[in-house]
Amino acid sequence: MIEIKNLRKSFGKLDVLHDIDLTVEQGEVIAIIGPSGSGKSTFLRCLNSLETPTAGSIKIGAHTLKFNDKKPKEREIRSLRSQTAMVFQSFNLFPHLTALENVMEGLVTVQRISRETASTQAKGLLEKVGLAQKQDAFPIQLSGGQQQRVAIARALAMNPSVLLLDEPTSALDPELVGGVLAIIRELSKDKTQTMMIVTHEMNFAREVADRVIFMDEGKIIEMGTSDEVFGHPTHARTKQFLDQLY
Ligand code: ADP
Ligand code: MG
Repeated sequence: MIEIKNLRKSFGKLDVLHDIDLTVEQGEVIAIIGPSGSGKSTFLRCLNSLETPTAGSIKIGAHTLKFNDKKPKEREIRSLRSQTAMVFQSFNLFPHLTALENVMEGLVTVQRISRETASTQAKGLLEKVGLAQKQDAFPIQLSGGQQQRVAIARALAMNPSVLLLDEPTSALDPELVGGVLAIIRELSKDKTQTMMIVTHEMNFAREVADRVIFMDEGKIIEMGTSDEVFGHPTHARTKQFLDQLY
């Protein structure tokens, strides 16, 4: 489903990602862990074309983008981006739109689906995240956890091959984390949706992830099943990182 080769990203002189290689199978759930500043968000943002990599290539489904001195065409970037949807730490809902309208937005403006069909689909998705009764609420009227569940529904509406979640529960009050994790856990059980989740919820990562990636200083330091990485980390830096948390 995903093939990433020699992916590099620099911001000016700052090298943030160093030659990342990764292959992800369809339906796999990947958890990405690692210290703050290690490049986790930048990595997901490259996959979603929110950042343009400095070098390397990204293949998602049938779309491949190579990054070199030649800038990729806008149309190629769009086709790659249409394969993914992203859920952000800070929800990023449109404040002037209701929950339902937030979920409908991409369907109407990007996918050019009629408002009526979009509304039916969006209602189904709000139901899936347990928020059918909140469809007419504005973001400000929702708790952080509810807002994040709307954001997940909005991402799913784009029917992405790959769902990217960047610390989806980090901005939530502790009592709201469980509800959002429960939704993500349900999605991960289907094994139809390929998912890449950056998270600091280690118990959750251990439970849902098929594979865990530990990143540090812009590199994949260690990768394996959750039992391998959490139970028997081989790299000193992985051990040190996990020891700090427990
Ligand atoms: P993480 O998500 O693991 O905390 P990030 O990907 O956000 O790490 O950041 C990795 C490094 O890249 C940090 O040093 C950060 O300051 C830097 N960085 C991220 N985005 C930008 C940007 N737009 N411009 C310059 N530096 C950035
Ligand atoms: Mg981050």
